[in-house]
Amino acid sequence: MNVYDSARMAGLLAPMGYSEVAEPADADLVILNTCHIREKAAEKVYSELGRLNLLRREKAAAGRRMTIAVAGCVAQAEGVEIRRRAPYVDIVFGPQTYHRLPQMVARIESGRDEAVIDTEFPVESKFDFLPEELSPPGASAFLAVQEGCDKFCSFCVVPYTRGAEYSRPQDDVLREAARLVAAGAREIVLVGQNVNAYHGPDATGQPSSLSRLIYALAELPGLMRLRYTTSHPLELGDDLIAAHRDVAILMPFLHLPVQSGSDRILGLMQRRHSADHYRRLVDRLRQARPDLAMASDFIVGFPGESDADFQATLALVRDIGFAQAYSFMYSPRPGTPAAALVEDQVPEAVKAARLAELQALIGDQQFAFNRAQEGRELAVLFDRPGRRAGQLWGRSPYMQAVHVTAPEALMGGVAKVEIARAHAVSLEGRLGRDMENAA
Ligand code: SAH
Ligand code: SF4
Repeated sequence: MNVYDSARMAGLLAPMGYSEVAEPADADLVILNTCHIREKAAEKVYSELGRLNLLRREKAAAGRRMTIAVAGCVAQAEGVEIRRRAPYVDIVFGPQTYHRLPQMVARIESGRDEAVIDTEFPVESKFDFLPEELSPPGASAFLAVQEGCDKFCSFCVVPYTRGAEYSRPQDDVLREAARLVAAGAREIVLVGQNVNAYHGPDATGQPSSLSRLIYALAELPGLMRLRYTTSHPLELGDDLIAAHRDVAILMPFLHLPVQSGSDRILGLMQRRHSADHYRRLVDRLRQARPDLAMASDFIVGFPGESDADFQATLALVRDIGFAQAYSFMYSPRPGTPAAALVEDQVPEAVKAARLAELQALIGDQQFAFNRAQEGRELAVLFDRPGRRAGQLWGRSPYMQAVHVTAPEALMGGVAKVEIARAHAVSLEGRLGRDMENAA
């Protein structure tokens, strides 16, 4: 979501004469677009700000100005506190006010205001005020369709920082998708904190759904791949499962966070689903799309998590078999109910040991999944230059990173690749003979 937001910010600033540079030292304006999901992410912001301040001073000595802005969820959560800890920050704004960025920058540039702080949740939707122009997308482009969350899992800051759940009108999404494809995108990733809760109004004003949006996007000429992230197990209805069966361009990969395999912990997390609900969902998804690769998120060391609870998480992972998964140590977030369970906090060393054990199991599953692709021919969308000259990187339908020796001309298109060798987190491939370049 932050990648999408940053691209829209770049689009907002372009008419003011701003364009992207590769190094902060070359920038007249630096925006840190931040994440508040775990404490580590938030602390990184302050250390990064310290580094930027050194640059800012160097530039000031040379008679040049560098405006520093903090955007995103840390800005939303910390507000004026950011200026207290880092008084050289000029602008602080949250995820729902970035459409006002040009005015904020103008206020600082003109010297009218010493600082601007805007962490409101405005009544208007920012999406109605963003310019149509998009900064050029890559072969794979994010498209925000839904934002915010009303679920209030007891560990999570998202409902407080991104705000209430909101879905964009379906026609707006379809128009933006068409513009992305016209500008070269071959894959669109629909993004939202609870993307499958999408219910934006259709052309008649009736609430649509993520599945209907997917069927509509599948008709878009030139669009070759569709993905969506991140989903909640409670909102995955039969209609969306059917879309995985029916829509050929919907890729066979689903990131569906479960967080824990213990019903007791899921209850304390206020997830409102059980571990077996998740197992049944995955069964039904795999009936619809037998080769569906599953990914998930896990939190270890949630307050009160016993060894038996953690064993239940390992059992769930063994039952499902993941193609990849993210796992995190529980991080108490200020203002969330779980952070108040002070007595039940799990010691850091226990959290770290559980994380290592879980990650080892997930790593084994990921490697096994990667090895199962050896000898197969997979369609790869090339979206990045390789680390070595003459190499391109892309993604398999199952979201695996694939590197191939391939001509530059294939960049941005899909080609058939024979998988020669599997690594822990990537695949090595060779171009197939009947190579197809759809770019
Ligand atoms: N909306 C998605 C996930 C959003 S946050 C969902 O409902 O599952 C992304 C991931 O960060 C979560 O899935 C969770 O695993 C992790 N996370 C969120 N809050 C956390 C916390 N306080 N400590 C550790 N991990 C956390
Ligand atoms: Fe956070 Fe996801 Fe729960 Fe919403 S559903 S509160 S975003 S973990």
